[in-house]
Amino acid sequence: MCGISGVVGLKNISELLFEGIRNLEYRGYDSCGVALMNKTHLVIKKDIGGVEDFYRKHNVLQQKSNIGIAHTRWATHGKVTQGNTHPFTSSDGNFAVVHNGIISNYRPLRDSLQKEGYKFSSETDTEVIAHLLEKFFKRGRNPEKALIKTLNLIEGTFALAFICT
Ligand code: GLU
Repeated sequence: MCGISGVVGLKNISELLFEGIRNLEYRGYDSCGVALMNKTHLVIKKDIGGVEDFYRKHNVLQQKSNIGIAHTRWATHGKVTQGNTHPFTSSDGNFAVVHNGIISNYRPLRDSLQKEGYKFSSETDTEVIAHLLEKFFKRGRNPEKALIKTLNLIEGTFALAFICT
């Protein structure tokens, strides 16, 4: 079972995110990652292995941010690799997504997004969410509406957190 943590704060939240996913370690996981909102863009860090090692190796606590999401993954779709680790970003870099569960209809969604030109970087079911959010956001520049349209399309069991720049 994976773990998800998300924080919106007034000061640096990297440590709170760390505590969030460390407290969920007991659920089991194989890899972990974070997305942190910088002034203008998202900083993504991810790796296979444990939360403490990951934070140390990628200097995550040195990243200053007040909005972030973090994830510990238990792979269901795609191997345990850095490339399959959450968060996933949309092609335009505006969205970062973490997800717990399974998108059971990801295959046809992925096929049609690829036909529309969206490029996938992982083997996961999760990545369709990032591209769907981008696709629907482009239509109205409204993240809430983009989320509702995305949720209306995906099937399965899921909890998710995302950041829109
Ligand atoms: N199905 C997703 C994956 O394989 C999420 C797994 C999880 O809940 O950690 O990446």
